[in-house]
Parts: sequence; structure tokens; C-alpha cells
Amino acid sequence: MPEPIAEPFPLDAVTLHDSVFTRARDQMLHLARVYPVDRLLAVFRANAGLDTRGALPPGGWEDFGHPDEQAWGPDEYPGREAAPTANLLRGHYAGHFLSMLALAHAGAPEAGLKAALKGKVDEMVEGLREVQEALAASGRYSHPGFLAAYGEWQFSRLEGLAPYGEIWAPYYTCHKIMAGLLDAYRHAGSRTALEIAAGMGRWVHGRLSVLSADQRRDMWALYIAGEAGGMNEVLCDLAVLTGDKQFVETARLFDLDSLLDATASGRDVLDGMHANQHAATLLGYLALHDLTGEARYLDAVVNIWDMLVPGRTYAHGGSGENELWGPAGAVAGDIGNRNAETCVTYNMLKLARALFGRTGDPRYADYYERAVTNQVLGSRHDVDSDDSPEVTYMFPVNPGALREYDNVGTCCGGTGLENHVKYQDSVYFRSVRGGERALWVNLYVASTLRWAEQDVRVVQETAYPLEGGSRLLVDATGDLDLRLRVPGWVAGGCTVTVDGSPVAVDAVPGQYISLRRDWVPGTVVEISMPLALREVPAPDDASLVTLELGPTVLLARSAATTWLPVAAATWRRLDGTLDVPLNRADDGTWRLGDLVLEPAWSGSDARYHMYLRRTDARIAFAGAGAGAGPDAGAEPADSGVPNVARRDGGTFLDVLWSDGGFASRPEFLRAVLRTAHEFVGLGLLSAAEARDVLRAAARSGVGRDARGVGRDARGVGRDARGVGRDTRDVGSIADGAEAAREEVSREENAREEATLLAEAPAAVLTGSAPRVEVVPSKMPSVTGWYHQPAELTVTARADAGEPTVEVRVDDGPWQPAGAKPLRLGDGVHTVTVRAVDSEERERHVVREVSVDTTPPVTTATARRLGPRGVEINLAATDDVSGVDSIRWKGPDTFWATFREPFTRALGDEPQVIEFTATDRAGNEEPIRTLELPPAG
Ligand SMILES: [Zn+2]
Repeated sequence: MPEPIAEPFPLDAVTLHDSVFTRARDQMLHLARVYPVDRLLAVFRANAGLDTRGALPPGGWEDFGHPDEQAWGPDEYPGREAAPTANLLRGHYAGHFLSMLALAHAGAPEAGLKAALKGKVDEMVEGLREVQEALAASGRYSHPGFLAAYGEWQFSRLEGLAPYGEIWAPYYTCHKIMAGLLDAYRHAGSRTALEIAAGMGRWVHGRLSVLSADQRRDMWALYIAGEAGGMNEVLCDLAVLTGDKQFVETARLFDLDSLLDATASGRDVLDGMHANQHAATLLGYLALHDLTGEARYLDAVVNIWDMLVPGRTYAHGGSGENELWGPAGAVAGDIGNRNAETCVTYNMLKLARALFGRTGDPRYADYYERAVTNQVLGSRHDVDSDDSPEVTYMFPVNPGALREYDNVGTCCGGTGLENHVKYQDSVYFRSVRGGERALWVNLYVASTLRWAEQDVRVVQETAYPLEGGSRLLVDATGDLDLRLRVPGWVAGGCTVTVDGSPVAVDAVPGQYISLRRDWVPGTVVEISMPLALREVPAPDDASLVTLELGPTVLLARSAATTWLPVAAATWRRLDGTLDVPLNRADDGTWRLGDLVLEPAWSGSDARYHMYLRRTDARIAFAGAGAGAGPDAGAEPADSGVPNVARRDGGTFLDVLWSDGGFASRPEFLRAVLRTAHEFVGLGLLSAAEARDVLRAAARSGVGRDARGVGRDARGVGRDARGVGRDTRDVGSIADGAEAAREEVSREENAREEATLLAEAPAAVLTGSAPRVEVVPSKMPSVTGWYHQPAELTVTARADAGEPTVEVRVDDGPWQPAGAKPLRLGDGVHTVTVRAVDSEERERHVVREVSVDTTPPVTTATARRLGPRGVEINLAATDDVSGVDSIRWKGPDTFWATFREPFTRALGDEPQVIEFTATDRAGNEEPIRTLELPPAG
């Protein structure tokens, strides 16, 4: 097995101190402490014919089977028509819960809780052992190792290629139970758990080893039904833990050759694949590489990572739309109503951790920080609960999204149990290879590390992620290489002091600072990384941006469901960060102009926008002066020239800033010149306008320090604390120096302007291109959508003659813009206006208009449950804006949001159930009704 570059620490070596992470951790520890083990075991006991002790299963997908359902053996299933079934994934949630109990036990912050959780692990393992024995004693199953909360028939039906619907991912559930047992062994020392899992592994081998490769290939390619979670991973773990090599062979029986072969050779076949089905297998492939040395496994995993990050990854670390991966490179291009299933990120974090351990490559640590801080921490609702994990299923990224919390018994409810009790597992990594001690600090999370074997202790004091930096008390003796991660988000320099003295470091964002020295106990290391506000463009659409403050993705609160605008051009610094003061209010939000921002990790209930649309009206830059923010008093350098768009919709400023920022002022000025040439060449700017833009760039403050001198983005002078100190030091001479500074600034301006204008685009066009106005006849609704067809009046004026004005809707043909308003029906439309004057000067204007005139339509279905009950399911469709919510009301109930099928008892009288749905545009369906008959 290859030796890892960097190894993580066991959970009990790291203690978390109070932070935003312990908020979620403590809420989950509460659930771990109070939730009864009998409820988790109920589905297993019922299936094995044991007393359920009156306990109710958790619910959701984790519920009893159909009352008529039997614990059929492999060949006893009478077929779908004859055998009603229900909740065929049962047992999976119990497996995750056992993992959670074991992880929480290992990392428990105090001894009483630790002992209580150990007791619950043992109680649960003992319960599963009794179930496994009872199933074996029944003589019904193919091997005494069989353990499930349903019969063995689902596995044989999978071999018969039964679809999802008839069965539901039996090996997925098997994996969760085995993983829970192995966690109980590894983190809570239960040998019984290892024995149960080994029995299950032998049963799996018995089933799969007799099948042909073709049959297995067809099984694992089945959508959902063939989903096997990390079966390959737990079997590799079993091989290592028991020393039985046969489990490696069993693990290989889960290989999906079509995926492995394609991706190992660099072919991207992920479009349309079920994200979590395949993400969970990647850790197993890594383990198989370690145990077999076969390069194909590692090549496939590393290549898949690169196909997903960053090209298919949203700002908070999630991927996928409606559980499926989209086309390569599509982020903005794959935003729908249901992005970013939390299970996928759970698996991607495990993968990032494993790949970091193998390579020491900081890009995996960068992903880890982004995804754990934003999607995972933000997936735990900030409420206490005695019976729900209160975690998200989807953490969507579309405008006006809501997080889908709760999730008792679902897949994300299961992985969500584990996510929040192991925040300490990737803060630090270590190595003692070749006798050289190295310690990586990957996350600046308030914590204490005890590296007992090396007699090293590190205490981190920080308010991260609300503070950019950390104070580390290092108790170590002798040679140690302390590697401090400089996150990729760091802009404007990073400083390090040791015992108060500055240390010269080469701090490159996305790399490590190495502090290798002879340590004495009690050394204090401080790392400071200013938390800058950044506007980060989506990789495939520079006009769609997220606002990020250090590691935190900010969400703009709004119930609108069309893109919110943000105009930040005149705040933008050289490195792309925004020079604007952000003050946190008592409720934990920030205000930026009209926007109310909250951290993605808040766990709040508010509707939010993760992505915003850049909408700067004119080409403008930050002003010159001490600061460029709106309150700094510096006049923005506004060219007065409209921020024109290319035919693809990219505006001048989008194109200019598409890489996020610049390393130096000369580089910025060259880019302005280059973009001006491009836009003049396209006929979108006149030469005179280009010169106005160049003059504005020359007088702007972008990349200039207070003395008016161009500077380098990584210079320490840009550090907020550093500047503060400078100002104090030079305060006495500041007034006298002011005039001299202004003189320098003026000279530099004039020199830069002359250089730029000397290279300005030739006068292809003179005067201004036509000016275009697009005016809607009325404003859209508060959601940003029109509920009636939208009408736009297009007008254009030109200096030279009467302009030709044409309009195009979406990808349709160009049409002359008539005197009548342009009328737009249902859909999200991109309207492009093109105006050309008699001298061929051309102007493009792009507007996005969203129209949904019809409410959704809900259908209700009622399924009889015996003589006195009925199960009601409500399904709504809305093809234009999508369904926002369905609500229902029955006799004696209030209006409730529909989440999942509900049951009603039938009475002596008929009952009327009322229901209605609302779409994302805000259209409400007229109330519909469903009449339920009397009982009998
Ligand atoms: Zn899930």
C-alpha cells in the first residue's frame, strides 16, 4: 500500500472550541444523545420476527414495510402484482445513525457524553447481532451473514435487473449498515460489530461471485436500483481489518468498468450520470488502487475529480441538478430548481480528504474548506430537535431558493447525521516520513490538537470564518515543519509573526507557508489574512457572480425568483476584491446597498440568492484616493460610456474582469486597452468612447496606493493591519506630504493617459453609436416575474441619420423593431436589441424578461389503506417557472405545506380535502378539492 504523504488525526486528538461549527455539532450531539436505539432497530426486528418493543421507526424512507409484506427469501417474492411493498430502503438510516453515534463518541467533548454514546453504540450493535442470528435461524436466506431490514428477495430481483420502483438500491442500504458497523469497530472498539460486518461481507461474496461479468455490468448500470453506495470501500476496509484478502476480490465485483475505463483515459462521460450513485464509489476505487496497485482506479478517480472541480461545482461546493451531473464546464449553465444534493458533497469531502492525504496537494484542501464551511455547515438548520436531523436534501443555488431541511429517514438525512459530528477530522494533518516531522494546518478552526506520539500541542484561537487569520500557540520541542495553508481566497497579502516578530514568508494563495525551525514550547504564531469581499464570476458566465467574504459564500435574502442585480464596478480593486465596508448587524447579516447578506453557513430559513447578475450601466472604475468604497469620498472614475454588450451578452466590464483580477496596475491598464480594441473592432464602441474609457482607467485608483503610485497586488502594503500601522507611524508628517502626493498622482495620471491614448483604437467610428432604450410598460411582480405577457417599447436615437433597429428574442431571427411594443409570452427570454446608424455604428442591448401567466396544476391521488384509511399524494406541475409549494387543508386542520404523502382516517361522513399550489413566479392555483368517501 502506498505510504500517505499526510495523515489525518483520530477524532479524539482534536477538540473544537466554540465557533460556528460547534453550533451545528452541538445540535446534532443532542439528537445522538436523546434518540432511542429501539426506534432505529424497529425495522430490523420487525423483519426478523423479533419484538419491536413498541418502538416506532424514524419515518420518512425509514419505516415499516407494507403490512402484507413478508421477509421473503431469495426465491420467494411472488411478483409485483401480487405483493405490495413499501419503504424498500429501510435500514439505511439506522446504518448512518450507528456511524454518527460512533463518530460522536470518538470526538465527544466531555466524558459523560462519551460514555453515554459508547453505551448506545454497544446497544445498537447487540440489537443487530440478535437480528442477524434470528435471520440465520430462520433458514430462509442464502448465508448466515445476511442482515437487512427486509428479505433477501430485493438482491435476487436486482440480479434479474428489476427496475427502481420494484426494488430500491438494496446494496446501497447494505453499504450503510456495514459502514455503521465498521465505524462502531474503528471509533468505538466494538469487535462484535466487525464480526457482523465480516459475516455480511461473506454473504455478499456468495451472491456476487457466481454471477457473470456481463450480468454485474448490467446491474451496476441500473439507475438507482443498481446504486451500491460505497460497497467497494467497506469491503476493502474489511480486507484490511480482518486480513482476509477475499474481500478485495469481492470489492472488485462492484467495478463499473464503463465508468472506470472511460475516465481513466480522460474521457468525460459524467453528463447525465446520477451524481451520488457514482460519487460514493470513488473512495472504494481509491482503496482498490491501494490494495491492488492497479493504476486504472487512481487515474479514474483523479480525472473524475478534475472533471467535477471546478467545472461542475457551485460556489458552496455542491454539484448536480436534480441529482444528476450536467455537461462538462456547466455551472451557470446548469442552474435549475434543485441543485446540489447534500449527499454528494458529503462524499466529495471524504474524497478531498483522501486525495489530500495521498498528494498533499492544497487544491483538495481549498475545496474542503469551501464545501465544509458553506454547503455542509449551512445544511444544518439552526433549530434544536429531538427526532429530526434537520439537515438539507438539496441546497439549491437558483434565485429565491429555499433549503430543503428536515429529512428524517432520507439519504441526505443519513449522511447529514454524520457530517456535523466530525468537523475536527480535517483541520490538521501530519507526517513523520523519513524521520522528518511535518504538521499541516488546513483549516483555521478554533481547536486544540494533541499529537501525543510527538509530544506536540497546538491551540488555535480565532473567530474564523468571521476572522481572517488565527493565533496558534505551539507547544513543540525540536525540529518541526509547521505548514500553514494560505487559502485560495486570500487577496491582498498574508502576514505571519512568530512571538510577535514578522517573518518573511512567500505567501502564495492556494499554497503553504512552511515554518520549519527548532521549536520551543509556548511559541505563538499568528497568521493574518484580510477578509476581503470578492465578487467571483461563474466559470462559464462572467456576468453571474457570487459574493464571498474570505471562505464564506454570502447569500442575498430575497423572495424574488429572477436574478438580483449587483453593480459593483466602482468598488472593484486591482485584485478583484470589493473595497466596501461591511458591518455585521446584530442579527448576523450584512448590508451592501439594497442587499441583505447572510453567510451560507447560517442555517436560516430565509429565501436567498447565491448568484447575482452583474448590471453595471456604464463603464466605470474605482476612484483614486485613500479608498475607493462608497463612503471613502473618492469620486468613481466614470467614463460615461454605456457598458455595452457583445452579441453573446458579455459586457465590456464582464470581459475585462473575467479572470477575477490583475496582478499589477500596468496589467490592468493593458487589459482595458485590449478590451477597448476588441469592442471598437466589433463596432460596439466608437473611437471617441474608447478614449473616454481609457481616460477613466488612467484616472482611476485601481491598483494605486495612497501615494498615487502603481503597486503590486501581493505587496504587504495592501494588508489592512499593515496600512493601519503605516498611518500611525507617518501621521506626523502626513499633512505636509499630502501636496507632494497629489503632485505625484497627477504626473502619473498624465503619463499613463498619454501612453494609453497613443495606443488607442483607430477611429473606425466617429461620434457615438446609437443610444437604445428598452422600457417595459409595467413593472414585474415582487418575484421578478410578469404574470401577464410583458410589453417592451424599444427606441433608438442616433447622431447620424435614422438608425435601423432590430430585435431578437432568445435564439430567434432578427426582426425589425416596429412602432408597436414587443410582446413576450411565457418563458425566460433574452431580448437583444441591435441598432445601427447610417455610418454602420452598432449598439447591442440585452434584457432578460421572465413571464409566467399560468398557475401550476395539482393532481391528487388517493390510495386506499384498508377499510378505514387512505393515503393522499399531491403532485403539481408548472412548466414555466416551476412549482414553489403545494398546500393542503382538511376538516379540522389548517393550511399545511405538502411535503410527502399523508394518511387520513375515514370517518362516518365524507370529507373534503382542499389543495392548491403556487409557482415560483407567484401565480396561485384556484383551490381544488378531493372528496373522501365515508369508511367502509
Ligand atoms: Zn442524499
